[in-house]
Amino acid sequence: MIPIAKPQLGKEEIDAVTEVLNSGMIAQGPKVEEFELAFSEHTGCEYAAAVNSGTAALHIALLAHGIGKEDEVITSPFSFIATANSILYTGAKPVFADIEPDTFNIDPERIKEKITPKTRAIMPVHLYGHPADMKAIMEIADDNKLIVIEDACQSHGAECLGKKVGSFGTGAFSFYPTKNMTTSEGGMLTTDEKEIAEKAKMIRAHGSKVRYLHEMLGFNLRMTDIAAAIGLVQLGKLDGFTAARQKNAEILSAGLRGISGLVPSITKAGCTHVFHQYTVRANKRDQLAAFLKEKEIGTGVHYPIPIHKQPFYKELGYKDSLPVSEKAVEEVLSLPVHPALSRSDVQKIVEETNKFYSQD
Ligand SMILES: *Cc1c(COP(=O)(O)O)cnc(C)c1O
Repeated sequence: MIPIAKPQLGKEEIDAVTEVLNSGMIAQGPKVEEFELAFSEHTGCEYAAAVNSGTAALHIALLAHGIGKEDEVITSPFSFIATANSILYTGAKPVFADIEPDTFNIDPERIKEKITPKTRAIMPVHLYGHPADMKAIMEIADDNKLIVIEDACQSHGAECLGKKVGSFGTGAFSFYPTKNMTTSEGGMLTTDEKEIAEKAKMIRAHGSKVRYLHEMLGFNLRMTDIAAAIGLVQLGKLDGFTAARQKNAEILSAGLRGISGLVPSITKAGCTHVFHQYTVRANKRDQLAAFLKEKEIGTGVHYPIPIHKQPFYKELGYKDSLPVSEKAVEEVLSLPVHPALSRSDVQKIVEETNKFYSQD
C-alpha cells in the first residue's frame, strides 16, 4: 500500500533521542531552547515558543494576545477542527469566512464582510502547504486594527512574496507525525513581538516565569527535550523533505493535466507551496478513492465536513451558508505526495488516476 502520509525517521533521530535519554533531562530543558532558536531562524522570526501540539500553539497565541470572551475571530471553515476549537477554548467566537475555490484558503473579500465591532483577530490557515493571501489579509488587518494569527500547521517553510508563513503575524505550527516535519506530538508559536513570546512561555508553564511564582492562569503545554531533539534533526532535513514534496507534486501535476473531470493542485504566483497535501478536485471523488484503494494507493479527504457543519458547531447554533466550502468537501481528494514515495510510486498514482477517468 502506498500510504497517504509517512514520517521519515532515521538513525539521526534515534541517536538524538538516545542522547537525551542518557542525559537524564527528559522534560523541557536545553534541547527545547535550542530547537526554538533554530526554528525561529528558519522562519525568519525573532522569537519562538515550543509547545506540545499545534493546537496548543494556536490556543496560546490567542491567549497571549488577550483574546477571550466577547471577542470574535474570523477564520476558515475549511480546515482541521483544531483551528476553530482553539478559538472556542478562549471563550471567543469563531466567525467563518468562505474560501477561494482555487487555493481552498480563506477569501480576503469574504473576511471583509464578516468584520464587526467585536472582531479582534483574523486566523488564516495556510491549507495543504499553500500560503493564504497574506498581502490582502495584512492590509485588512492594518486597516481594521486586527491581530493576525496564522495557522501554519500544514505549511512549514512555505513562502508568500518571499516571506515565510508564520512571520506575518503570530504563527502556529504543528509537528504531528503526518506533518511536513515531526517531533511525534509537538507545536511551535512564532512571533516578532517579545511580549507575546514571553507571555506564551508563561502560559505554557502554569503562568510562571520564576518557579512557584504564578502571575497568571496558565496550563501545562510544554514540549519535552525528547521531542525537541527529534525536531532539531527534522528541521535540518526540512528543506530536503520540501524539495522532494515539490518534485513529486510537479510529476503529479504534469501527469494529471488534461484529465476531464479532475483539476490538479494549483500554485498561485508569488507563493511557494510546500505540499503538505497534493489535493485535487475530482468528479466521482469517492469512486476514484475506492478505485485507487483497490490499486493499493492510499488517499485522504481533507476535509469531508466543513467546521460550521460539524455536529458540535451546529449545536452551538451555527447556520452559515458557505457555498464554496460546502462544494469543496464533496470534491477534494488528497493523493500521496510525501518524501517517502519512490519515483515509481508517483508514476503509479498518475497512471491509475488516468486509468480511472479513461474507463467509459
Ligand atoms: C494538524 C493541524 C492542527 C493541529 O495540530 P496538532 O499538532 O495536531 O494539535 C491545526 N490546524 C491545522 C490546519 C492542522 O493541520
